[in-house]
Amino acid sequence: MISILCREMPRNWQEGFLIDRMKINIEDAIRSIPYYPRAMKYGGDDGLVRLASNENPFPPSQGIINAVLDAVFSITRYPGSELELKQLIGERYGLTHEQVVLGNGSDEIIEMVLKAARLKGKDRVVITEPAFAYYSIASQVFGYEVVKVPLRDMRTDLEAIKEAIDERTRIIFLNNPLNPTGTIFRDGEFREFLKDLPPDVIVANDEAYAEFAEDKDFPYSMRFIEEYPVLVLRTFSKAYALAGLRIGYCLGEASLISFLERTRQPFSINSVALAASKAALADRDFLRFVLENNRKGKAFYYRAFEELSLDYVSTEANFILVRLGRDAEAITKRLFEEGILVRWMGAYNLPDYIRVTIGKTDENTRFIDALRKILG
Ligand SMILES: *Cc1c(COP(=O)(O)O)cnc(C)c1O
Repeated sequence: MISILCREMPRNWQEGFLIDRMKINIEDAIRSIPYYPRAMKYGGDDGLVRLASNENPFPPSQGIINAVLDAVFSITRYPGSELELKQLIGERYGLTHEQVVLGNGSDEIIEMVLKAARLKGKDRVVITEPAFAYYSIASQVFGYEVVKVPLRDMRTDLEAIKEAIDERTRIIFLNNPLNPTGTIFRDGEFREFLKDLPPDVIVANDEAYAEFAEDKDFPYSMRFIEEYPVLVLRTFSKAYALAGLRIGYCLGEASLISFLERTRQPFSINSVALAASKAALADRDFLRFVLENNRKGKAFYYRAFEELSLDYVSTEANFILVRLGRDAEAITKRLFEEGILVRWMGAYNLPDYIRVTIGKTDENTRFIDALRKILG
């Protein structure tokens, strides 16, 4: 596909000497895991307009840069206590530090949930289709079977997910707002879903894009953590602009959180990420600025797509799913030739669509201008 994605896959990986000739066994669940595509390199000044990965388009604020530089002097030591950051996060939601666990990105938290939840006879994970790729990759790694429930009108079908629960179901990964559609389920729907779940089912609610949600009925899911087995996953990668430092957190009832904590690597969060995320949490102005930019960019995109007569899905996140029709992949390539990266949704089973991140004003304009030119 698009050459900016670097697969880092050995060319002869299927003819490996030990694996194929010496018959070193690898389980099918592991053999079938795809390589996760990574971008070629960090493009600080390569002139590319990066609207493919829902990253924050802005450089780190001066406060964060200072915190990172300070932290550099202590990289000879193991990372220090996480308590202060947990307290800061807890305060924000009216929780205690015992209700917070940190992870090396939400990705590590997804793994911690799968590890801590291991239980004989309970080996199924339910996710939406399409969904964030790492839910199923990590589930396979830890020996779970993945059950996929299609969306309904581009939204998470909570009723169908509930129906998909059986005696083997252990974890349900929800994602709100949903990547790649930007749609949400609302507070009342979530509460209804949580009622009468069978025992021993854990709901991991990935809210990576929650800060961007504007709908007043977007669930305040922290409210449910004492009453239901709900874990709320958040990240510093999107609204807080720290994707490269890899840090996220999870909120939940203290005893459940303590089991996640026990399954962690001792020092999975590095000292620079710890320092930067403390500074990022304190920088309310930066967050306000980011959210305001997102509102403006969203309105600009909506207007432009309407002018171009393109269908799009109304979004509560920092990206928009746009229907380009059967040429969507070819248009993605043409955009790439113009230096603009967007994500073709073939891998998400939505081949007529692209997902475009809401960037800075000039990036959004460059994308729309190029799209207008390509569409003629
Ligand atoms: C970007 C994203 C995340 C963030 O992952 P990190 O590991 O915290 O960078 C989590 N979930 C979804 C659905 C995402 O799109």
